[in-house]
Amino acid sequence: MIENATPIRARRSAPAARALAFVTAAAVAIVGAGPATTSAHAQQAQRRLPVIRDTEIESLMRDYARPILKAAGLAKQNVRVVILNDRAFNAFVMDGRHIFINAGALFDAKTPNEVIGIFAHETGHLAGGHMIRLRERLAQAQTQSIVALLLGVGAMVAGAKAARGNSSIGQIGAPAIMAPQSAIQRSLLAYVRTQEDQADHAGVKFLNATHQSPRGMVDLFERLANDSLFRSQGADPYLQTHPMPADRVATLVQIAKASPYWNVTDPPALQLRHDLMRAKLSGFLEAQSTALRRYPLSNQSLPARYARAISTYRHGDPRQAVAQIDGLIKSEPNNPYFEELKGQVLLEGGHPNAAIAPLRRAVQLSHGAPLIEIMLGQSLIATNNKQFAGEAVALLSSALRREPEMPEAYAQLAMAYGRKGDLAHADLASAQAAFARGDTKTARQLAERAKHRLPVGSPAWVRADDIVSVKTPNRKN
Ligand SMILES: [Zn+2]
Repeated sequence: MIENATPIRARRSAPAARALAFVTAAAVAIVGAGPATTSAHAQQAQRRLPVIRDTEIESLMRDYARPILKAAGLAKQNVRVVILNDRAFNAFVMDGRHIFINAGALFDAKTPNEVIGIFAHETGHLAGGHMIRLRERLAQAQTQSIVALLLGVGAMVAGAKAARGNSSIGQIGAPAIMAPQSAIQRSLLAYVRTQEDQADHAGVKFLNATHQSPRGMVDLFERLANDSLFRSQGADPYLQTHPMPADRVATLVQIAKASPYWNVTDPPALQLRHDLMRAKLSGFLEAQSTALRRYPLSNQSLPARYARAISTYRHGDPRQAVAQIDGLIKSEPNNPYFEELKGQVLLEGGHPNAAIAPLRRAVQLSHGAPLIEIMLGQSLIATNNKQFAGEAVALLSSALRREPEMPEAYAQLAMAYGRKGDLAHADLASAQAAFARGDTKTARQLAERAKHRLPVGSPAWVRADDIVSVKTPNRKN
């Protein structure tokens, strides 16, 4: 689980820093999606959206979404599920290539089928092209306002932080974020209302086509609709973007119950992965007392032990955590994520040498998951052992080809090159790190320096030249 906002570079004193950060790649991808989204300050603010990157959860999400997307004829569009670190229940689509889901929704979903039901409904919006008109409608609004609206309070906090941190953002501080919100919200609701029935129908159709039950979708929507009756304010953002009047739910129940797959349940292996995911979210995101209440010691199931092990490490006892994780590995020796967790605990506890073996095994068991390769590369570098530099370069380069928007991994790559004495490639990697962070000025300076050190026309020189030639976004937009 990658979930810390402080770049590694900044932690000079720690021999082995936290494993990477909340990554913002997906949020940046929205920025490129429309004409209203080019301003530098909007980019700055969106880069701060808290996206959770985690191989285990992402792989589960892909397995949930893939059959549905295929049934919808969207298999080739490379739709990605992006997990936002927000406790509120929400899921939405915006640009045709991403389905966003809050950690809160994953947490509230008791079965895989409920999440699959959410994806079926969202895929109904995707397949219906609903978000294209949505985007046109929102084109006049400030990007930041849209994001603040859709993501709720979290994004507004991010905007406010951005405003404090950068004078060019100060001019569009909190009032600018707040003001148009209610207007946008009204038009958004008026628009989305007419699409919800379509998305429900399409969702049930996709579930039927994949022989899965629409029951999870119904259960979830009924729960949300009931909740909203008891809350006049602060309803889940999902209800704001997907209005759920009683007649809509009634219609959904009717078509869902007609499904021949109504009584189909999730395979037990999938339910276990789902339970492990919820345990992981609890361990990482909740207070230790809350996690322990949810997963008391009397519960000796694998998910409960997983949640407690993570919570133990998050709240300051790495030695005890490693013992607990060893117990998990004993129960499931081929689970890559238990090995990954052990590596992360050891790395962050200042034992990068000890972290290497479990992380190597995690890379192997996950068939080279890039986020785990990055963590292994980080451990190799944190040992300060020059002999590992070549391996770290190979791992990080390979991972970055599949995850090209991770500033922290470029920074690690720069360190690995530096240790090899390859200053030209170190400069290029530092330039790429700055570029991925959105700091084009620094990126250009470093790329310029790299160009002088690289053979003219070589692939690395061309990459440096690309960064030098990038235009600065117009700050007056
Ligand atoms: Zn909807």
